[in-house]
Amino acid sequence: MKVLKFGGTSVGTAESLTNVKQIVTACKGQVIVVVSALGGVTNQLIQMADLAEAHSDEWESILEQVKARHMSVIDAVVPEDRQAQCKTVIEGFISEGLYSYYAMLYANNQLPPAYKEQLRDAIVSHGEIMSSAIVASMIDGAVPHYAPNFIKTKDVDYERILDNASFELITKEFGGRLEQVHVTQGFIAEDSTDGKKTNLGRGGSDFTAALIAAALDAEALEIWTDVDGFMTADPRTNPDATVIPQMTYAQAQEMCEAGAKVIYTPTLGPVAFKHIPVWVKNTFNPSATGTVILDPK
Ligand code: ASP
Ligand code: MG
Repeated sequence: MKVLKFGGTSVGTAESLTNVKQIVTACKGQVIVVVSALGGVTNQLIQMADLAEAHSDEWESILEQVKARHMSVIDAVVPEDRQAQCKTVIEGFISEGLYSYYAMLYANNQLPPAYKEQLRDAIVSHGEIMSSAIVASMIDGAVPHYAPNFIKTKDVDYERILDNASFELITKEFGGRLEQVHVTQGFIAEDSTDGKKTNLGRGGSDFTAALIAAALDAEALEIWTDVDGFMTADPRTNPDATVIPQMTYAQAQEMCEAGAKVIYTPTLGPVAFKHIPVWVKNTFNPSATGTVILDPK
């Protein structure tokens, strides 16, 4: 069993989603697919909350754009017999979920800060909820899973951290399932004490995928992104930059800490602990070998 994580650009357009479908359906064994929000959507969800809180009604037209984008992606990638149902689901998340949250922020400038925070957490969770609904409808037989049921956080000394209970819950959620393709959301979580929506921080989808891979002792974690792998230098400023074919967890960790934006730094911990190889692969160039992160020889 493998865990494949697709980032925002990989699920951002009809063309890239078509690549995602090919990559997933070409896998032989069982796969758990973890997805980010459509590229740019998390930023828009936050921007709309800022606008609504500042009492600008501009959020409404951005929400229309977000809706139109999801609908056009459904038209392009979801098989026709599942399109109407998928659209109804997305329509519900937009009109009943997001619309009412923004309207609340817009109408009440007296909301207590803790309540506003809660609304914002609920709002940002919708990016992955919508993208995963589309990806699950796009792939025949894919089983959808709701990540907040098994990715739990808790507050300790005013800091939100992962709850160890998550590992057992992941095992329960996926253990013994025979279906080939499973789809779930990266990034989003739930507070184990009060059941409120939380998340693992910006870029946290990689971490979700690593937690699932580690809990299930996956044979590999594949991070599908928009670059060919870890590079020897920044390719935008150094034309001689080449892909690093193989690295250790410690080397990858060091590069992440030094600012390489290839994967979210906390990702490596759980997979290194379980000695699970991590592949960084390019959705837009799937035949490129990518970078593999392994134990030192
Ligand atoms: N969608 C979230 C973000 O933009 C999480 C992720 O993509 O990993 O930060
Ligand atoms: Mg990312």
